[in-house]
Amino acid sequence: SLVLGIETSCDETSVAVVKNGTKVLSNVISSQMDVHRRFGGVVPEVASRRHVERMTVIIEQALAEANVTKDRLDAIAVTQGPGLVGALLIGVASAKALAYALNLPLVPVHHIAGHIYANHLVTPLEFPLVALVVSGGHTELIYMESHLHFARLGQTRDDAAGEAFDKVARFMGLPYPGGPQIDRLSAQGKAIYDLPRAWLEPDSLDFSFSGLKSSVMQLMQKAERKGETIGQADLAASFQAAVLDVLVEKAFRAVKQKGVKQLLLAGGVSANSGLRVRLMKRAEEEGITLRIPPLELCTDNAAMIAAAGTYLYHEGKFADLTLNANPGLPLIE
Ligand code: ATP
Ligand code: MG
Ligand code: FE
Repeated sequence: SLVLGIETSCDETSVAVVKNGTKVLSNVISSQMDVHRRFGGVVPEVASRRHVERMTVIIEQALAEANVTKDRLDAIAVTQGPGLVGALLIGVASAKALAYALNLPLVPVHHIAGHIYANHLVTPLEFPLVALVVSGGHTELIYMESHLHFARLGQTRDDAAGEAFDKVARFMGLPYPGGPQIDRLSAQGKAIYDLPRAWLEPDSLDFSFSGLKSSVMQLMQKAERKGETIGQADLAASFQAAVLDVLVEKAFRAVKQKGVKQLLLAGGVSANSGLRVRLMKRAEEEGITLRIPPLELCTDNAAMIAAAGTYLYHEGKFADLTLNANPGLPLIE
């Protein structure tokens, strides 16, 4: 099957063509990062307008790079939610127009299902598995017994991991998006500052990052009052270590609780080099198969949407042309 995927949930306009749910024929990603950087974060109205401006060109580019003509497509998959409503609407409207014009099934996809299925583009998923989803808006542990069946084992009670990275980075005066900046600085520093780890109740698979974020801010404010200087790299390393300690420990706690042999990493924070190294090391120690998406498939892209969309297509999970974007779409009904 040939599925064209469209992703516009945030600030990436992306269109991809994926063959049989596993082979990426094209994955065009137009990032708006430069546009939003001067505002220190994504401006929803600006994002929507950019998606509109770029969409037609990117659809044509994705088809051309895949060397596929429109008449050979089998389905159109699109991110229905969650995300910024105005941004999602552009993707959904474009997908509906294509599905209508080409008389093809329209397949709505949950953005986080997409992040998980990014791994499927490397090696087919094997079940049962536990997925650690760490992105700008989500931090969750998901259990999957089979394709498209998601059960939630735990989630963040406040900030998402990526959100904490971005907020702390912003406070440190680093450019948007802050996650990659903190990652880069961490490699040059030492985790010498004592910051809290939110373990929550014993055995809990939930997360909390707002306390950690506040502690970093207090540490900086206190130093400023006393006229002391705090090394950016050491602070970044200390913050990152506090986040990773909890993510790694709880991911393997979930693996043990469910008795699975596969751990899968998903979402934009999967790009974090410290997280990748620590998970790989721990997986090796514990004899667990770890799947991590390649860097270009960690953050938002349409190939992951087409991959998940292919399975939904095979199950006949189509939408009609009344499909609407849903910014709060739940992964689990
Ligand atoms: P969601 O997927 O929850 O809807 P999103 O789509 O905005 O949110 P993603 O694109 O999946 O999020 O990921 C973006 C997030 O990943 C940002 O918070 C960014 O800072 C973070 N991120 C990207 N690279 C790194 C890195 N190397 N280290 C830490 N965080 C990173
Ligand atoms: Mg983004
Ligand atoms: Fe995302």
